[in-house]
Amino acid sequence: MINMTEDTPKLAFCRRCKKCCTASGSKIVLSKHDIRRLRDAGLTFKVRKDYRLSKMVMENGKCKFLGPEGCVLPEKVRPLDCKTYPVHFIPDGKNRYYLTIALDCPFWNKIPQSYIDYVTREAQKDFAHWSHEEQIGYWV
Ligand code: SF4
Ligand code: SF4
Repeated sequence: MINMTEDTPKLAFCRRCKKCCTASGSKIVLSKHDIRRLRDAGLTFKVRKDYRLSKMVMENGKCKFLGPEGCVLPEKVRPLDCKTYPVHFIPDGKNRYYLTIALDCPFWNKIPQSYIDYVTREAQKDFAHWSHEEQIGYWV
């Protein structure tokens, strides 16, 4: 299993890029489960409602959890969307999901199978906590 706290190839790209952690690139979805996990860790942040989904609000042009060396959140509290990107999972509310790859990420064509396997397991665990409304939220 990948230990994402180590200097993985993806995190090395993220440190230089930071695109999805800034206002120009970010559309980070926060499930209620993500929000609970972050708040339970004592973290405060702004959320905006976007139809059925909640999204992270960028403050001063960037996510408040972005440090000079990338995301400062421990892997276990990082939102699912952040954890899996540029692999993106879209649930359909019927215990299935579509997997897409964001081609605007400079890491997209370097993704090893081990990374896809890791984020797929993380997504499966996380979706078990999503409400039905959240699971169909991408389709509105
Ligand atoms: S776009 Fe890709 S490389 Fe850039 S910060 Fe996001 S995940 Fe990392
Ligand atoms: S939580 Fe971390 S990975 Fe997600 S947008 Fe914020 S800084 Fe980036």
